[in-house]
Formats: sequence, C-alpha cells, structure tokens
Amino acid sequence: MTELLYQTDSYLREFVATVVAVDAENGRVALDRSAFYPGGGGQPNDLGHLTFSGATVPVTKVKKEGDLVWHYLTPQPPSLPGKGEAGAPLLVGEGSGVRSFPAEGQTVAGTIDWDRRYALMRTHSALHVLCGVVWRDYGALVTGGNMEPGSGRMDFEFETMRGELVHQIEARCNAEVAAARDLRVRILPREEAFQIPDLIRTKINLLPEGISEVRTVEIVGLDLQADGGTHVANTREIGRIRVTDYKSKGAINKRIYIEVVDK
Ligand SMILES: [Zn+2]
Repeated sequence: MTELLYQTDSYLREFVATVVAVDAENGRVALDRSAFYPGGGGQPNDLGHLTFSGATVPVTKVKKEGDLVWHYLTPQPPSLPGKGEAGAPLLVGEGSGVRSFPAEGQTVAGTIDWDRRYALMRTHSALHVLCGVVWRDYGALVTGGNMEPGSGRMDFEFETMRGELVHQIEARCNAEVAAARDLRVRILPREEAFQIPDLIRTKINLLPEGISEVRTVEIVGLDLQADGGTHVANTREIGRIRVTDYKSKGAINKRIYIEVVDK
C-alpha cells in the first residue's frame, strides 16, 4: 500500500520513495509512500515530477486505486520486445536523448508542483470557511463542491439567495480568515469519529464500511469535517475570500462561487 504523506504533512513538497508496482501499459508507477494528492473530495490531483537514475519526468496525473497511489508519467514507457531486467530501469534511446521509466524496487525522488498545490490548499481551506460560516449563521447544509487552484464553488440548501446575503456571507468569511484560526488535522478511530455530532452533517455516514479510521479537519472554533484533502495551517494563509458569483441550481439548491486573492 502507499503511505499517504500529505495526510499528516500538507507542507511536504519533496520526498523519496520506492516503486512498488509498474503498470507499463498505462504508463504509471505506484510508490510505497507519496506526497502527491491523488484527487478526491472536490480537490484535483497534484502535478509535479519524479527523478530517478538522473532522469526527471513530469507526473501528469495521480490517482488512488485501492491502497495504491499511481503516478502517471511522461514520457510513456517504451513497449519493448523483452521486459527490462528486474530492478533496473528500462532505457530506450529516442532521438538524441535517452528516456527512461522506473522499475519495481527502484528509488525515486518526488517533487510536488508547489505553486499549484498551495493555491489548492488555500482554496480548499477557504471553502471550509465558507461552509462553516453558512452552517453556523444560516443553518444551511452543503450539498456539493468543487475547486481549481485559486477558485471554487459550493452548493448549499438555501431557498433564496440575494446579492445582499452574498455580501454578508463574504464579509463574515473574511472576518474568520482575519481571526487567524488554526486548522487541526486528526486521524480518529471510526467509532470515535461517529460520536462527533458535527461530522454527521458532512455525510460521514456515507463512508464505506471497511474504513477503520476517519481523518478530520477542523478550523478551530468554526468548522469540522471528515476530509482527506490538503489544507493550510492557519486561516490567515488564505489571504482574502472574494465571492465572484452565485446562482440558483434548483428550488433549494444555491451555488456560491469564490476565489482566493492575496491581501
Ligand atoms: Zn477539506
């Protein structure tokens, strides 16, 4: 299985790992540990690169399947007549350069595209602030959300949404950002997590039966979610939250669009 390094340290940008599986057909490798976020919960996967045997190749996609995190690499591995020797990198000459693909058992160094990831951490955390404010002050439940680096949207069970209300929500969100609240990540036994009333509203009940631990992300004093994503350590890192748009997505479903900007 892949140890999910980002779950305990969102600020880890570089790491060393061992290749535990190679899927040459799909041009991807699984590692024993990874700081790459594989996507999920509305947060897109990280990008970056892997370095091995003097070669540096871009990671173009990351995906979690079962217990493994797969890193999709360019260039694609060569489709050789014979397989590479076990434990040795596959090498193929192409034009003037030599390109390679890591082999099972090989050590690689991973580097996250940090600008992109940090923008996602700020955006993701801003959405938690929004979610926390809307629940605390208006009692509206979240029904969905999505994000890109720097911008995101969230759907709430609101019957009506007006510009005045949206401005008020924006101001209250920025008051929470300015309050410099810490974000705290914990990994709890499933039974303990199910005792927390606040988690019920974030659909913790939908977690698969087999999961024995639940990761929680808390904005201390504002919001608590069962969540696998990456977040900043303090709300002041978000910068400023700007509500850019809102629209009705149904009788009781209203969508709010935000972006995070530097102060
Ligand atoms: Zn989150």
